[in-house]
Amino acid sequence: MKQHSLHKYPLIWRKDDFFIKIYCSIPNVATGILLTTSKTAFIIDPGDGILRDLNQDVGPETILRVSDIFISHGHHDHIGGVWSLLTYLSVLRRKSPLSIYFPQGCVEIVSIYNAFRKVYGKELTYSLILKPIADERSFTKNSVRVKPFSVNHRELSPDGNTSIKVPSLGFKFIYDGKSICYGGDTAYSENLVKYTKGSDLAIIEAGAVDEESLKLHMTIEQASNIGLTAKEYFLVHVPE
Ligand SMILES: [Zn+2]
Repeated sequence: MKQHSLHKYPLIWRKDDFFIKIYCSIPNVATGILLTTSKTAFIIDPGDGILRDLNQDVGPETILRVSDIFISHGHHDHIGGVWSLLTYLSVLRRKSPLSIYFPQGCVEIVSIYNAFRKVYGKELTYSLILKPIADERSFTKNSVRVKPFSVNHRELSPDGNTSIKVPSLGFKFIYDGKSICYGGDTAYSENLVKYTKGSDLAIIEAGAVDEESLKLHMTIEQASNIGLTAKEYFLVHVPE
């Protein structure tokens, strides 16, 4: 079954105990995604509001089950909720370690980590582990195979006339023979094309609004054409 969804959040997909919920993905506002299996819970791109959404939806018990956070890139609409999430876990007196995976060179995550340690280091109840990703090697976390892949995202320079590449990743999550491909933010990307194909679910951004933003994002047409090569797909990050 093909699926074509435009920003009707939350977006939910489930195959047996492989579950993903996209609370929202609105450019320049926030993204927030929860992925769970019976064995684990991941948060992907915790933008502003993720703590409120998780609390209302699944509550502290599931929030404490989160073993890993995955960051596609350092733009504020993908990481704005990191600080409150980390603090909340300490308030809940979390004991198990928490890893944050992110593209190597993403200064935003390293800066948040350093500031967070400075403020809360002494009272932190759990160990927080930064896992910069420098290559596309797969790894396994709690029975979920994770395949990071580089994508093609940029940001405008301060004068707005040029753009510069930012460290950015997509992730393919494979569990129990099923796969979810999340592209993060990206302009057209051969890697995204490659890893979307045949996925059970693809989550593809369609954030381009004009010719200039094509260097940063994809149009709905580009994103749909890639999404159609998966069994199902969601279009996200569509300007509202
Ligand atoms: Zn971005």
